[in-house]
Amino acid sequence: MKENFNECTEEDSRILKAQVVAVDKQHVVIICPFCGRFHWHGSGGDITKAKYGTRVPHCTEEAARYDSHFNDYELITSENTIRREKILPGDLNEWKASQLIVRKAVEERWRLKEEADRDERILEVVTLRGNLARHLIALLSNVAPIHVTRWMNRHGIYYEDGRYRVVFASKAGPELCEIFGKYEDKK
Ligand SMILES: [Zn+2]
Repeated sequence: MKENFNECTEEDSRILKAQVVAVDKQHVVIICPFCGRFHWHGSGGDITKAKYGTRVPHCTEEAARYDSHFNDYELITSENTIRREKILPGDLNEWKASQLIVRKAVEERWRLKEEADRDERILEVVTLRGNLARHLIALLSNVAPIHVTRWMNRHGIYYEDGRYRVVFASKAGPELCEIFGKYEDKK
């Protein structure tokens, strides 16, 4: 029973909150927790509410590509939410600095995700195909060749005498040593 209860709570907490920056009779404007941009939704005509329910983010494709928890978000106001009959063009400027902070954090999260995805694909290719030339590893794992070089070096593997070889076994670990061979083993 208790475990189920905990699961439910976790599920609920995955609904991200979107800060409502401004609301008028027609629109509610939020900072999107997924893409870090302003999105406009319908307000339903009431500009006094504390919460505006959940909405489907407008950045579906872009954000879903990076966020496995991509979902509807919940629109929450704060004391700084601008409430008017009609939002003025300058209103969003007041929130621009906050929006940019969220956007920067999102971009950093996406960058790390892309990096992790690249690393995963490279590892998959070298595990399946063994010690190939750099351009082939790059091609098969769909990354730029420079990422192969960085990945190798991060794992203590360097290119020498026409092939990759493990120089720092402690960084590479036994599996990569098996695939690439160690520098000290070379004849
Ligand atoms: Zn968005």
